Amino acid sequence: MTFRATILTLYPEMFPGHLALSLAGKALERGQWALDTVQIRDFAQDRHRTVDDTPAGGGAGMVLKPDILAKAIDSVSENDDLAPGRPRLLMSPRGKPLTQEKVRELAAGGGVVIICGRFEGVDQRVIDGRNLEEVSIGDYVLSGGEPAALTLLDAVVRILPGVMGNALSGTHESFENGLLEHPQYTRPQVFEGREIPAVLTSGNHAAIEKWRLEEAKKLTAERRPDLLSGKTHPVTK
Ligand code: SAH
Repeated sequence: MTFRATILTLYPEMFPGHLALSLAGKALERGQWALDTVQIRDFAQDRHRTVDDTPAGGGAGMVLKPDILAKAIDSVSENDDLAPGRPRLLMSPRGKPLTQEKVRELAAGGGVVIICGRFEGVDQRVIDGRNLEEVSIGDYVLSGGEPAALTLLDAVVRILPGVMGNALSGTHESFENGLLEHPQYTRPQVFEGREIPAVLTSGNHAAIEKWRLEEAKKLTAERRPDLLSGKTHPVTK
């Protein structure tokens, strides 16, 4: 089954964006994953094709109208023979923070439907009525959900089977074992007077593994002690 992403957005021209390049782009061309977009504005009914309105209760900005967005979402569910039952994610700073664990879970499924918010966000009733799962990419506010959707997809697509050339290059990475990755080096042996740590060129694989694990633990303790406590990213291996 091909992993299929359907993006609901007011800016379909932002897709596939950077995912048309490099390994993700080649995989898209080969049909190892699929992407389609739905223009939310196509479901507006008035002459001006209005998609937003002022917030109930007052305040700044505009809110995406629930009736228009619900129609757009339903149009996907009704024609979803290719990948039925996909999770419906709403990119949102109020959502559950995206983790590598969630990325793995999504990559193991048939695909995703992603709704990109704009303005002040979307009417709560469409979140509740259409069972949208809010996902955040971090504690900061973007102007729209599109870069967040591209970020989530980037993380998912790179771990789909056959997308990364060297399957093993995924195994030691940051978060895969609840740790940040160890430092990396490549030739030349000496760069501006700094040498590659001797153990890495020793050919002793057990010693290399031990060094890498120790460095990963040290780095994680320094930078992300929250990871070691298991609070933010549960250790899975
Ligand atoms: N008023 C909202 C922010 C709206 S930002 C609030 O304070 O919560 C406009 C849109 O950008 C959102 O609807 C969402 O789709 C997207 N967005 C902004 N920041 C995001 C983040 N950190 N993660 C995921 N999506 C985000």
